[in-house]
Amino acid sequence: MAETLIIFDFDKTIIDCDSDNWVIDELAFTDLFDSMVTTMPWNSLMDRMMQEIHSRGKTTADIAEALERMPLDPHVVSAVRSAHALGCDMRVVSDANVFFIEAVLKRHGIFECFTEVNTNPSFVDEAGRLRISPFHDSNDSSHGCPFCPPNMCKSQIVERIRDGVGVHGKMKVIYLGDGNGDYCPSLKLGEGDFLMPRKNFPLWDLIRSDPNLLKAEVHEWSDGEDMERILLQLVNRTAFFGNGMAAPQLLSVDCKTETKPASSGDDLPKALPVPL
Ligand SMILES: [Mg+2]
Ligand SMILES: [Zn+2]
Repeated sequence: MAETLIIFDFDKTIIDCDSDNWVIDELAFTDLFDSMVTTMPWNSLMDRMMQEIHSRGKTTADIAEALERMPLDPHVVSAVRSAHALGCDMRVVSDANVFFIEAVLKRHGIFECFTEVNTNPSFVDEAGRLRISPFHDSNDSSHGCPFCPPNMCKSQIVERIRDGVGVHGKMKVIYLGDGNGDYCPSLKLGEGDFLMPRKNFPLWDLIRSDPNLLKAEVHEWSDGEDMERILLQLVNRTAFFGNGMAAPQLLSVDCKTETKPASSGDDLPKALPVPL
């Protein structure tokens, strides 16, 4: 059984940009999007934008091509492949949508590394229009969390994952994210878990506003190179503690792309310095 559960946000975490904005910009719908951004919830707006894109003659193939042009930091690809090779159970929890995320992960050959992708559902209707639905149907029953947008509370997804893999008290969780929606699940992480907030992004600001609310150990990162190095160090730590081994060991990393050797433990990242 995997000893480490790694939960990745998608936008501005796995990818450097926001996939919704990327598609809108690539298909030249930015002005229309900006004119409507305050009129409805983001998730509803994206479904509406797919309608606009469809009605102006753009196909789902055009959307897929736009997504395939999106760059992915080779360090992030390498980090994901290495963590997978080391036996980690990896999940995506994202407020993007299935179509966008699968297109990008498959394009870069790392889709198979993830056990599941938890995100807003999408499908192509009979007319060929991409539809994007809320993860939690607010017409049915709201998720009830006051901190999160109506379509998704990531805490509830993370709790379900933890319950499903029997993670409580055994597996360690490493959570990577950047946005406001990642704060709610971050607060639910326990002692022995790790939070990797992206430095100078909203999640990082929220954590700094009251670090005492966090039980997890916090390790900030700025770019893909940081993410790869710190994530693999934490994976080594969790595997090492999970095995009850006496001393940190180098874990072999079997992956196709170039990867830095895992840490010997001497240069483990320090917990996020709490700013004054
Ligand atoms: Mg994000
Ligand atoms: Zn929530």
